[in-house]
Amino acid sequence: MEETKNTNENPVERKPKNFIYEIIDEDNKNDKWGGRVHTRFPPEPNGYLHIGHAKSICLNYGIARDYNGKFNLRFDDTNPEKEEQEYVDSIVEDVKWLGGDFGDRVFYASDYFEQMYQWAVELIKKGKAYVCDLNAEEIRASRGTLTEQGKESAYRNRSVEENLDLLERMRKGEFENGAKTLRAKIDMASPNFNMRDPIMYRIVHADHHRQGKDWCIYPTYDWAHGNEDSIEGITHSICTLEFQNHRPLYDWFLDSLGVYHPQQIEFARLNLSYTVMSKRKLLQLVKENFVDGWDDPRMPTISGYRRRGYTAESIRNFAEIIGVAKRDALTDISLLEFAVRDDLNKNAQRAMAVLKPIKVVLTNYEGEENLEAVNNPENPNAGMRLVPFSKELYIEENDFMENPPKGFHRLIPGGEVRLRYAYIIKCEEVIKDDDGNVVELRCTYDKETKSGTGTSTKKVKGVIHWVSAKDAVDAEVRLYDRLFVVENPGTEEDWLSKINPQSLEIISNAKIEPFIRNAKQQDKFQFERMGYFCVDTKYTTPGKLVFNRTVTLKDSWKK
Ligand code: ATP
Ligand code: MG
Repeated sequence: MEETKNTNENPVERKPKNFIYEIIDEDNKNDKWGGRVHTRFPPEPNGYLHIGHAKSICLNYGIARDYNGKFNLRFDDTNPEKEEQEYVDSIVEDVKWLGGDFGDRVFYASDYFEQMYQWAVELIKKGKAYVCDLNAEEIRASRGTLTEQGKESAYRNRSVEENLDLLERMRKGEFENGAKTLRAKIDMASPNFNMRDPIMYRIVHADHHRQGKDWCIYPTYDWAHGNEDSIEGITHSICTLEFQNHRPLYDWFLDSLGVYHPQQIEFARLNLSYTVMSKRKLLQLVKENFVDGWDDPRMPTISGYRRRGYTAESIRNFAEIIGVAKRDALTDISLLEFAVRDDLNKNAQRAMAVLKPIKVVLTNYEGEENLEAVNNPENPNAGMRLVPFSKELYIEENDFMENPPKGFHRLIPGGEVRLRYAYIIKCEEVIKDDDGNVVELRCTYDKETKSGTGTSTKKVKGVIHWVSAKDAVDAEVRLYDRLFVVENPGTEEDWLSKINPQSLEIISNAKIEPFIRNAKQQDKFQFERMGYFCVDTKYTTPGKLVFNRTVTLKDSWKK
């Protein structure tokens, strides 16, 4: 265990951010840990990380940072059948991307298997653990109920020698899967189920992603978790509320062994509306191709949000906004979207992009010119750029209406509208194909209305975006909506039927102003009036630009 003293001359000066900070402040005041603060994030590598994990990373890393402490990334890799190297790699990448700085402190629970085994031997020697021959079904049946105490196993009173011999033979691989378990000898009458002789080891003949064939007995989560925190000298072992009832068991294990004993603190997990968060459900979405992989931009995974264009900064801000509580609740996904918009508004380069183009021909315009456009009105240092303007333009299909409702201020037959950064134009003629679809608008422009320098005082209500046809860059644009149509799909039995069938719309012929040609993967933009977009990392190729819509400009779900 390492010493990291928080020098008392330089106490952390701030108001406690949440109840966990209050606990730590109190601990430091009482010198409970000698001034040390040491947290960890302990994922099981059986899936990609999601936004709930992000909350836990921000909390644990944030505490270590704020108290000059340490932060470990620890893989809780105790279940060989569900774990894979791919998940380990993705978790490392995601934690780093979020800013969780674990330095070289990456640990694996599987590296502690020998230590845990020795501790199990010690518990047997103390008469506090025994090898049980009941199978899983029999153990479940003898656990009892809320009102009825459990039944003691017939194997509970084996001698220490017999238990030591059997455990060793379990380790050597003499028994089949499920034939025996090692159980803690606690109290089958305890009102807390977790204390009714819980299983510590089960026999699983399976290769481990790091340990290979070294082991065929694997520790249960309950046996392993507290031990891992103890081995690493964690001070504040922060976990979600469902482990509150397990705390007495972890206490029992560590106190029975007489080893270093961290303090467990529980907080409410993040539940987010219009999505699911259980790894089992996310895995099913991936495996059954409801989505396009773990990093599908509709997934609540960190890699999905990254691909969609969410910034690490906005996810950290979100974690800050929602805070840390002791009671479970459902957090509105619009809070996350708000944090994303807020960040991109400040930082995203503006561009004009026409997603669903209709052609405009300016019959009285000849030649071409470059017009000045603002790169980011929120950032005076972002400067200006030149946008080419010419006789043939594209505007958004729905910025023109032949039979407009009252209050429609954009282009109509005989009406005028301003082209952003350019001129006021007037629609003189509507050209249709044989089926009556509008295919082109013949317009005239008013030379005196040039943005910034024009002498005309003419005013119009509507301002629309546009792109010069011959200069436009073609792109595919992917629009995303919420993945589920109900607020809390995780609670529905038939949750897969609540998937939003319109969660992805692919637009194949968007037209964007030419500077976008140089956009690199993950570059972020505000397409004026259309939302925030980023270059997709999966489908963009040297010959084809693909954009993801990160988020709309406004909360489109708000009533
Ligand atoms: P499962 O979905 O299988 O229950 P899990 O999401 O708990 O798995 P772990 O890998 O055990 O996955 O999680 C690692 C850490 O992330 C745990 O310490 C847990 O407390 C935290 N965590 C997981 N889900 C959330 C959540 N929704 N909100 C906050 N923290 C979470
Ligand atoms: Mg878990």
